[in-house]
Amino acid sequence: MTQPFLPFAKPVIDEDTIAAVGEVLRSGWITSGPKVALFEQQLSAFFGGRPVRTFNSGTCTMEIALRIAGIGPGDEVITTPISWVATANVILEVGATPVFADIDPITRNIDLDAVEAAITPQTRAIIPVYLAGLPVDMDRLVALADKHNLRIIEDAAQALGSSWRGKRIGSFGDLISFSFQANKNVTSSEGGCLVLNDAAEAVLAEKYRLQGVTRSGFDGLDVDVLGGKFNMTDVAAGIGIGQFAHIDRITARRRELARLYFSLFGDGFAGATGAQLPVADFENSNWHMFQLVLPDRLPRAEFMARMMERQIGIGYHYPAIHLLTMYRALGFTDGMFPVAERVGRQIVSLPMFSTMTDADVERAVGAVKSALSA
Ligand SMILES: *Cc1c(COP(=O)(O)O)cnc(C)c1O
Repeated sequence: MTQPFLPFAKPVIDEDTIAAVGEVLRSGWITSGPKVALFEQQLSAFFGGRPVRTFNSGTCTMEIALRIAGIGPGDEVITTPISWVATANVILEVGATPVFADIDPITRNIDLDAVEAAITPQTRAIIPVYLAGLPVDMDRLVALADKHNLRIIEDAAQALGSSWRGKRIGSFGDLISFSFQANKNVTSSEGGCLVLNDAAEAVLAEKYRLQGVTRSGFDGLDVDVLGGKFNMTDVAAGIGIGQFAHIDRITARRRELARLYFSLFGDGFAGATGAQLPVADFENSNWHMFQLVLPDRLPRAEFMARMMERQIGIGYHYPAIHLLTMYRALGFTDGMFPVAERVGRQIVSLPMFSTMTDADVERAVGAVKSALSA
């Protein structure tokens, strides 16, 4: 009997959301309008009342955060090699210099000792990434930035609903960027949002997202900074609002699924197979992904092929950024960040989405065990 294919991620849009988007389409106002304003209000409430602005991707959200922080040519920005390439690309996009720091082999997040070692007089900012939704040690990160007078632009693309010691990611800190791309825990099809420090930064965010324009009165229009075209539409905001209503349920279900993964893999799994499980954190992480690092003996592509035979989708998040051709051309080479390089070669993402059933997790774990021993 062949089982249906189990994808590693799946956006789930309910009928209420589909109906709400239909209303937007009929309303005569489909670009940025009342839905965007409402989504921003809801997000702001979620983040403890801080100003929030939305955009049409998590990528441009990060780029705009860097511009708001005044980062540009001559400035160094420290980030992790294990992220979606957008995290480093935006540093180049604003004309600054990306500096990588190796990751911690257990959390797979940027190693804060390595960050400290990478700081130079040119360093202006750190971009931490919370891989799979697991935050770094936020107390230490903030202390480190304070000590060296650095901005923190959090790439919290995967961390909506995550927290640190009882405080939501996004409710404290400097500039915090989230993504609503299709595979994220909450999606608007495509989109992102930025949590800002004050009203002045919010005004700047609005300018950067729409051609630098400021309007006044009936017909006043001026441009005083170079902005782009990064506004979220009401169609996207309608999807986002429909999804965001379920954030607590989504996070709770993902934590349940993660617990089930751990209990089904069992205590002896890592010892018996050489595969490394993620950190068993059910307080802070929103479990955006459930990732294993495979033993070196089994090439990832071979593992993925075996899982495909078993009708299980496997993702890989992410190959090390510094080894991509464009970054090699900037002088990065093999051996610079050995932990990131090994994790970048061997990391896999198992199926994880809020409508997965317990039986789906059982299937995935059974397939992983048999693929590792085949
Ligand atoms: C998704 C993601 C991004 C980019 O977000 P988009 O909305 O796809 O532009 C950036 N960083 C990380 C870590 C992500 O997961």
